[in-house]
Amino acid sequence: MDYKDLANIIFPEAKPIEYYENKYEKRNLKEGAIVTRFAPSPTGFVHIGGLYQSLIAKTLAKQTEGVFFLRIEDTDQKREVENGVVDIVNSLKNFNIEPDEGMIGENEEKGNYGPYKQSLRKEIYQAYAKDLIEKKLAYPCFETAEELDEMRKKQESAKVRPGYYGVWATWREKPLDEVIEKIKNGDPYIIRIKSMGREDRKIKHHDLIKGNVDFPENDQDIVIIKSDGLPTYHFAHAIDDHLMRTTLVIRGDEWLSSVPLHLQLFQTLGFKAPKYAHIAPIMKEENGAKRKLSKRKDPEAAVEFYHKEGIPDDAVKEYLLNIANSNFEQWRKQNKDAKIEEFTLQLNKMGVSGALFDMTKLLDISKTVISKYNKEEVYNEAIKWAEEYDKNLEQLLSKNKEYTLKVLGIERGNVKPRKDISKWSNLEENIEYMYDEIYLNKEHNYEYQNIKDKEEIKKIISLYLEKYFDINDDKQVWFDKIKDLSEELGYAREVKEYKQEPEKYKGHVGDVSTVIRISLTSRANTPDMYEIMQVLGKESVIKRLQKIIK
Ligand code: GLU
Repeated sequence: MDYKDLANIIFPEAKPIEYYENKYEKRNLKEGAIVTRFAPSPTGFVHIGGLYQSLIAKTLAKQTEGVFFLRIEDTDQKREVENGVVDIVNSLKNFNIEPDEGMIGENEEKGNYGPYKQSLRKEIYQAYAKDLIEKKLAYPCFETAEELDEMRKKQESAKVRPGYYGVWATWREKPLDEVIEKIKNGDPYIIRIKSMGREDRKIKHHDLIKGNVDFPENDQDIVIIKSDGLPTYHFAHAIDDHLMRTTLVIRGDEWLSSVPLHLQLFQTLGFKAPKYAHIAPIMKEENGAKRKLSKRKDPEAAVEFYHKEGIPDDAVKEYLLNIANSNFEQWRKQNKDAKIEEFTLQLNKMGVSGALFDMTKLLDISKTVISKYNKEEVYNEAIKWAEEYDKNLEQLLSKNKEYTLKVLGIERGNVKPRKDISKWSNLEENIEYMYDEIYLNKEHNYEYQNIKDKEEIKKIISLYLEKYFDINDDKQVWFDKIKDLSEELGYAREVKEYKQEPEKYKGHVGDVSTVIRISLTSRANTPDMYEIMQVLGKESVIKRLQKIIK
């Protein structure tokens, strides 16, 4: 009996590794093309950090004419949920970050390097594990949970590093007969790698985001195949990224400390290691301290949140690019109308530590993104959102389509478009005052500003209706008339005049037009008042203003 026999007893069915090496050919891509991936576990929750990673991965692949694929890491079957894969696939699809290869449904995939779901790759991992056992580079370990626990306690009391290494790795050099007998006995076991590393030696790693980092070598005989026959993350990572011909691993920086182990695995398996880029997580500030965005505490940690809120995908992506590259903002200033796809993302411009999530900034970006939509786009996007999340709004929009398009068209398409809409969930509050059916049936708090006196307000509105309001006026005439009205009632025609001699006037034209604006809409901030009146139409304006006089 030798190690070849041992390997055969453990994995009798496994194919020789040459089979897989030949099956998954080297990719024929142009020089510098990046092959990268998003490799989530299907836990039923898509984290904004995952979207962030995917956006970066897809952008880099696209920029270099490479490949971005989606691999599902489902070897921890306890954590799996139903439809977990579809959730991930749909999230990427919704944000237009679709993979070139990999999973495209719960059980569907495309591409030549599959299966792209790890649970379907069992035989592949076992083939490589078998090869390592034959070469005496891996071995079965029969330690029970109790034995391991006891070992840990001994290590603690001896004050040495915990783990399965060196003299502590009891099954590493056990006589072959003993091992084979245990297997024949049916005793449960796992497979461990035989580490050649030494803790007192250092390896140098150049990370494309974190820069140069030194680590002690890995000397732990880590588990590569678990007792259920499935691989650990570490082993699967090495095999998959080798066979799928990944050139750059982009992943969360919680994996940075595993780099020595991963490089060792690539070396032991005889593979060329990929490059790594470890991304800092998106953070949140709480009580003066920074922490990761948490699935449990922060609704904005879930990708779903952005859709529920109705924040356009482009805005979310633009915000993520802002976090990713500090020069994005500058680029945006110089390229106001460019598509985000035109921005060149650079890994070496990524922050080494985690950026803080900033909702105000995101909504600000969102306002700008929406301000560039034409009225039809606003209408279509809003109604798509409303169909899913707000039936009342959907009704309002669809019943009054032509009118709504006019409402949405106010101050749009010009150099300084309106920026009052930051997300579809706040559209209604920003336009509802334009609908008589809602507005006239509601009580309003008219919070007047500089001019507060009721009699004065009535006087302004009455005179305006009697003498100055004509829906057919063009904008210039309309505004001149508000000036005339102001003058007639003792207000300055121009703010400037008022500032020069405030004692001469009751106020100025701005105060008067604010009274008209609030009387008309019950709010002090609205888009252009002339356009609002034009869209409301003569009758509505009169009805609304008469209500004030009464
Ligand atoms: N399944 C791992 C995770 O979700 C993947 C890490 C990687 O990209 O290699 O963290």
